[in-house]
Amino acid sequence: MCFFAACCRPLALTLAVGLGASAMAGPPTGLKAYSPAAQALIDRAFGDLDPARPVVDVHVHALGLGQDGDGTFVNPDKLSVRHPLKRLETSLYLRATGVKGLDHFDQDYLEVLIARARAFPRPLRIHLLAMDRAYKSDGTPDPSRTEFHVPNAYVLDQAARHPDLITPVISIHPARKDAIQELEACAARGARLMKWLPNAQAIDPADPAFDPFYRRMKALGVVLLTHAGEEKAVAVKGAQALGNPLRLRRPLDLGVTVIVAHCASLGRNDDLDHSGKSVPNFELFLRLMNEPRYQDRLFGDLSAITQINRLPAPLQHLLAHPGLDDRLLNGSDYPLPGVDLVIWTRQLVRLGMLTAGERRALNEIWKRNPLLFDFVLKRTLKDPGTGRRWPASLFQRDPDSLAAT
Ligand SMILES: [Zn+2]
Repeated sequence: MCFFAACCRPLALTLAVGLGASAMAGPPTGLKAYSPAAQALIDRAFGDLDPARPVVDVHVHALGLGQDGDGTFVNPDKLSVRHPLKRLETSLYLRATGVKGLDHFDQDYLEVLIARARAFPRPLRIHLLAMDRAYKSDGTPDPSRTEFHVPNAYVLDQAARHPDLITPVISIHPARKDAIQELEACAARGARLMKWLPNAQAIDPADPAFDPFYRRMKALGVVLLTHAGEEKAVAVKGAQALGNPLRLRRPLDLGVTVIVAHCASLGRNDDLDHSGKSVPNFELFLRLMNEPRYQDRLFGDLSAITQINRLPAPLQHLLAHPGLDDRLLNGSDYPLPGVDLVIWTRQLVRLGMLTAGERRALNEIWKRNPLLFDFVLKRTLKDPGTGRRWPASLFQRDPDSLAAT
């Protein structure tokens, strides 16, 4: 069922040439030792963790081109020469994966990811994200709007294959006619976390039509991990309003536990509570976080929070407010940490969150293992005023423990 059957060969070739054209973060070799400075930074990042529990990464993307009938899909527009900007963007993401060439991309992507995860000096638990298609309000799929697709079966199978490493995160568009049926089937296979990207999937979290779906999620103890804020990683066709954090009041008020990806750290949206004026999404997220009724129900993940286009306010705020620590989870947004254009360690030095020496060591780690880099970076960042770092407990918090009863 490869959608690219007719066209992917030449595209694969041209993209493969692009992939090899410049420096990229490669798979961990495991052979060469890190410099003493990099090793010291890694040791410090892992030193105060609870040895009885794994490191947790709640935000790792699965990705595939539909090879070997695995059901994954990438919209051909993203690879087409007729859409040079999208194609360039895609080739940057593909390069970040560390996969060389596209002939066995699907398999290689997982192999590199798994090698990078297993190169952690302590066990890591990866929450691997499915991605449902975009659907129209009548419950039929919207292929033109679907950027990429990773079926639930794909992540469930990978989790079954690597139970010590991978936890499946399902994705179900609530407008699907079989939405509740699919939710129950996935929950029966152990899924406890659901991923949405409302801007790209055309999901309005505030739509009352989804109330029965939310009630079923709550009853089954399934937590919602949803992007909020502006979404740059996928084209959205005027749907940024769907990423308004205030639209999450609907599932929250029905008792669903919600993790807001990236803490809604990008872009602006209308203040639906008051003036209707445009305010930063991060501000709207913090407003929800401050409401006592959402205290045990609303969380944020740190994925993408260090990216250059989100600096500096959200990162500064989160580092400066220890009161939020118990409501945050670690997430890498892998493979994005491998895109050298999105994380500028130099800027973090300028902001006083890293020293120049830490930056050099981190850059060395990045070249070997962007997934490890993301973790060590977040453990190294400090509030420039107080020198405070995020606590170890944040990086071992498991979303399974969050579902409200
Ligand atoms: Zn993501």
